[in-house]
Amino acid sequence: MNYSHNNNPRFFYTYENGNWQFEGHELKVLDLTFIIQSMLTEDRLKTINLKEIAWRGKHHFPYGVGNNCKCCGGKAFRECDPTIPGIIAYNCSNPYDNKYRMLDGRHRIMRLLFEGKTKSKFYVFDFNDIKHFMRDDKNWNKPTKIIVEVNK
Ligand SMILES: [Zn+2]
Repeated sequence: MNYSHNNNPRFFYTYENGNWQFEGHELKVLDLTFIIQSMLTEDRLKTINLKEIAWRGKHHFPYGVGNNCKCCGGKAFRECDPTIPGIIAYNCSNPYDNKYRMLDGRHRIMRLLFEGKTKSKFYVFDFNDIKHFMRDDKNWNKPTKIIVEVNK
């Protein structure tokens, strides 16, 4: 399976989307490079209720998401493959107080929700095990593109 990845998850506050900050820092970015290349193992795959996952813009659904997505105008939404499991973490605060925070797969979960799905498979992490990958990255608007093969 090829895992395609566009952006590292960002932790910051906006009026529209609420407080996604990490421990009160204005901005942090989680570097997913190592996680995607080396940590997407079969044993982390779990079937999760979509309701339990926090993702930016969730409370607007179905407005301002999908083909009207604020971040991509719908391009990433249309091009994503919802059969590839997203990456989520518990022990990671979020404005919905949901059990899990989306780290990668926001467009995929939109697709699943528009398809009427209620659960799907995700790679599940304890955020405490990966928070050392948090970076002070001021270039957070710059997307990175990583495609790696996992579960070879
Ligand atoms: Zn988008």
